[in-house]
Amino acid sequence: MRILISNDDGVLAPGLRALVEALAPLGEVTVVAPERECSGYSSALTLQQPLRVLKLDNGFYSVSGTPADCVHLALNGFLDFEPDVVVSGINAGANLGDDVIYSGTVAAAMEGRFLGKPALAVSLCGPHVREHGAPGFAVAAQWVAKLLMQGTQLVLPARTVLNINVPDVPEAQIRGIRMTRCGHRARAMDLRQMQDPRGRTVYWIGMAGEPADGGEGTDFQAIAENFVSVTPLTTDMTAYAASTAVVTWLEGMA
Ligand code: MN
Repeated sequence: MRILISNDDGVLAPGLRALVEALAPLGEVTVVAPERECSGYSSALTLQQPLRVLKLDNGFYSVSGTPADCVHLALNGFLDFEPDVVVSGINAGANLGDDVIYSGTVAAAMEGRFLGKPALAVSLCGPHVREHGAPGFAVAAQWVAKLLMQGTQLVLPARTVLNINVPDVPEAQIRGIRMTRCGHRARAMDLRQMQDPRGRTVYWIGMAGEPADGGEGTDFQAIAENFVSVTPLTTDMTAYAASTAVVTWLEGMA
């Protein structure tokens, strides 16, 4: 199995390294990842400037672009082979509910949607995942390895990506693994307004909102109950529930 690994926390991120270590025994691993952190970049592609690729001493490819750029490059001519599967992560932080539309981790997996096997986006959920040496990454990476080994038995519709969130708790406290749906978050926290050293006003975007729908069957609920959460995602964002109302509204204009 040829496994392409990318992320949005950057090529030096500990979550990426944990993933490489856990998946290397399963096949041939290639890493193509952004040279710096690109969390929140979603599926942005760099179209106004070229991309530069550096091969690091450890064999990882470091790209002067976004997570989507990395996987796009890898699947469209940069590599001289086609990977069987794309795995993105392991992100330092949750990608639950509305997070998926901003997530560079999910986007890197999405960019692998044309391959035969479902791409995986993997995130570690907990307040301490950015602390040095967080052991949760290794635990989460083992879950990914288990899923990939199981992968041959999974048949999914085309263009399906699996968004996986793993709770950052000791391995023995993980209660199992669940299929989930995306929950929803409430509105983000307020902006933080500050002064730069030259006295000008600047703004930091606030924290993501609290879960507004963290109810039955959601990814939020699974994580809160210490389950690994697996949400199938697709690019079709059509709001089918709205179609009747929109048709009726358009008829009124005729
Ligand atoms: Mn990230």
